[in-house]
Amino acid sequence: MGKEEVYRIAVPTPFPVGDVNMYLVKGDCLTLVDAGVKTEEAWHVFKRQLNELGYEPADIEQVVLTHHHPDHVGLLDYLPESLPVIAHPKAQRWISKDPQFLAWHGMYFERFLIECGIDAAFLPSLPNFRRSLRYSCERSLTTAVCEGDRIDGLAGWTVLETPGHAQSHIVLYREKDGLMIGGDHLLATVSSNPLLEPPDEGETDRPKPLLQYNDSLRKLLRYEITTIVTGHGDDVTAVPELVEKRLAKQKERADQVLEMLKHGPMTVFDVCRRLFPTVYEKEFLLTMSETVGQLDYLEDIGAVTKRKEGSSYLFYEAVGSR
Ligand SMILES: [Zn+2]
Repeated sequence: MGKEEVYRIAVPTPFPVGDVNMYLVKGDCLTLVDAGVKTEEAWHVFKRQLNELGYEPADIEQVVLTHHHPDHVGLLDYLPESLPVIAHPKAQRWISKDPQFLAWHGMYFERFLIECGIDAAFLPSLPNFRRSLRYSCERSLTTAVCEGDRIDGLAGWTVLETPGHAQSHIVLYREKDGLMIGGDHLLATVSSNPLLEPPDEGETDRPKPLLQYNDSLRKLLRYEITTIVTGHGDDVTAVPELVEKRLAKQKERADQVLEMLKHGPMTVFDVCRRLFPTVYEKEFLLTMSETVGQLDYLEDIGAVTKRKEGSSYLFYEAVGSR
């Protein structure tokens, strides 16, 4: 079995990223990896491409999700309810739109954003993460898969956990020929954003997505990967080179942040506005996630410390700058 048995289907999304790729894997059964975005347009484009490959939606026997983001799960709402859905356990709370989780998520971030230096009065005007959820689905996991698991009907493929871009992110790796279905973990032309997510309920510390992401990038170096078929855009073939390039780029941005902080303590929001002056309003969650990520990184290497000033704001400062 070769790469020719993994077929790409690309559908448009309403997001700045453009098209999203899904993959049809013809193995012991017909598996769809990722499930587009919930729009009429995506559904029609999906059906047409599926037909061109000789299939109907009813022929699909199972769906595997690389992660829970709306552009990778939304078309599940158009597919038969009986279809098995396989993903990391952390995808469940998102794809089911678990009301308790979403309420907790909203509450957590309200508090967190105030700590980041955002005036409480501005909170209602901020783009709400829930807005993108209308392009998501309302489904439930049939099977949860974790590191090292194999999936029935997908002989030869192994699940690898790659948290960072999403807490639920996994990739599928086929040892025999080094093919990987990589979701949004490593993209050919754009860097993949580590996104903020709240801590699990009952836990106090939020995940540090950039640190996780860097670890998950380095994890790829341990495998012999010939090609990664990706969630957006072209395949990636020179994996070690691209991993190094992404890591170097991140370090460069962290250095930029450290330079800013050498001039005095700043809140996360201060740093975000300086780092992304033209896009922070439009891409609020993305740019804040990136900023928090760089600060987590600098804190982790001991270059900055954070402290609470007064009751609410959190200030970061460069070590040794006072
Ligand atoms: Zn994504």
